[in-house]
Amino acid sequence: MARKALNCPNGHGEMQIRKSRKSTKFRGVDITFSTECYICPVCGIEAGFIDQTSATQRAISDAYRKAASLLTGKEIREGRKRLNLSQDALAKRMNVGIASIKRWEGGLIQTRAMDNALRHALQGDIVGDKYIGNRTFSVARIKLVLAHLESTLGKKLLKKGDRMLFAAKYLWYADMVAFRELGKSMTGSTYARLPLGPQLNNYRDLIDEIKNADEASAEPLTPEEERIITRISRTFPREPMVIAAAHREIVWKRKSAGEIIPYSDSVELNEL
Ligand SMILES: [Zn+2]
Repeated sequence: MARKALNCPNGHGEMQIRKSRKSTKFRGVDITFSTECYICPVCGIEAGFIDQTSATQRAISDAYRKAASLLTGKEIREGRKRLNLSQDALAKRMNVGIASIKRWEGGLIQTRAMDNALRHALQGDIVGDKYIGNRTFSVARIKLVLAHLESTLGKKLLKKGDRMLFAAKYLWYADMVAFRELGKSMTGSTYARLPLGPQLNNYRDLIDEIKNADEASAEPLTPEEERIITRISRTFPREPMVIAAAHREIVWKRKSAGEIIPYSDSVELNEL
């Protein structure tokens, strides 16, 4: 990269660019990464431009991901290009928002579950019906199903600063029971086993999208779907009940952390 000249703030004239390897502990892992900065050959003071700082952050993230056996941002980008996929096309293939792809390529560290999903997608696999329950993923439909749950429960499920702790469990039952009884999920969402129960895969990136979605643009609920939602609300009128029930489900218990729960497991649900 072409660099502007930078003068030493202590008046020693032009500083030199120095590339070096540094070692540090990051998230408990020892990593070594390359960094570049300006250094004054006279007094030794160091300085850097913002793009150097963000390049350093990316280098740290990639060194950590390499050490933790996660795909690096560079590997994700190269894998995607090898398949001739745009960021949007990869996002669709994985059933995630494009923002996630941009962040992972840019240095945000993906979860282990998302790393597995990335590896599958970059091997040419498309997230199959197994994980979306025979329906195209729709954020607007998540909003619609949540709205119907809220009206039958008589309370709000999505609150300010929410991490979807309760909403995701209600949604999970709605999707799984609909798949079991109607052969099709309600929202096309993918769920993973998280410590606090089944959770929408990548929910952190979805929360704002769900809040801003227009439920009127979603395919309307069928009478059968509405009946399932009513049944869920009557079975779990209070939020702690849906949490406790989800934690008793063998299909959640037998999965390891971050593992995707396929829709085919819906036949083994016990609480509903
Ligand atoms: Zn100096």
